[in-house]
Amino acid sequence: MERLSRVKSTKSPRRLKISGTAPCQDPDVDPEVFFPAGKDVVARALAVSLCRGCDMVDECLSWALDNPSLTQLGIWGATTPSQRKSLRSLRE
Ligand code: SF4
Repeated sequence: MERLSRVKSTKSPRRLKISGTAPCQDPDVDPEVFFPAGKDVVARALAVSLCRGCDMVDECLSWALDNPSLTQLGIWGATTPSQRKSLRSLRE
């Protein structure tokens, strides 16, 4: 529950000090991995796979859906921008 309340803050999950494993906070992982170039499907698949192994993936996706202006680009919660746009439309 503590993790969830922190994710509901305006701070991005990538900037939060969280328990567990978050590949985007791993100092050995280049943060740019989570911002693959538009048509680079290999890079996008790598970022999505890293997110899928993250302890925060559900909370991160929820946060990203709640904060569209902060998550227009990049992979968040194992989703692409277009996937998040679709998910937001389903929420309405
Ligand atoms: S789901 Fe991805 S972007 Fe979100 S905290 Fe985990 S590794 Fe970072």
